[in-house]
Amino acid sequence: MSHHDERTFVMVKPDGVNRGLIGEVVSRFEDRGLKLVGAKFMQIDEELAHEHYGEHADKPFFDGLVEFITADPVFAMVWEGADATRQVRRMVGETDPAESAPGTIRGDFGLDLGQNVIHASDHEDEGANEREIDLFFDEEELIEWTPIEETWVYEDA
Ligand code: GDP
Ligand code: MG
Repeated sequence: MSHHDERTFVMVKPDGVNRGLIGEVVSRFEDRGLKLVGAKFMQIDEELAHEHYGEHADKPFFDGLVEFITADPVFAMVWEGADATRQVRRMVGETDPAESAPGTIRGDFGLDLGQNVIHASDHEDEGANEREIDLFFDEEELIEWTPIEETWVYEDA
């Protein structure tokens, strides 16, 4: 295991899918030098939505959140790289797009807290990345591979 094999879970939410932003989002992580190790286009059912957003079950926005995330397909992904969880969150921006800096995904593509384009595992929630990967992907759906450009991303690759 090397220092640059941290994995994180990311998904384009139904608003991002409907707005044709899958390619844009994938491009940003590819351009950063992160490695895609899993991806699927899928629809989240009620049960998965409750599990994924369980920490928010008591919040007033929970029912609306479940309705939103199950309304249409999502594009779920696993990205790998050095400090991947934290770096992806930096690229995603703040929870509220209105507070997200331009240059971040939410800051460039969103205006509304309830429709913020993308989910990414929280780096401040220890183990959230692994839990979310396990929830959405089977082990055999994750691919170990070495992109040809890797030696030009990491000095010690
Ligand atoms: P995240 O980790 O940045 O996605 O944010 P949270 O874990 O705090 O919340 C999960 C998701 O719930 C957010 O991405 C939003 O889609 C939604 N959400 C959070 N807070 C609110 C809120 O106050 N109102 C609404 N409508 N949705 C919210
Ligand atoms: Mg969160």
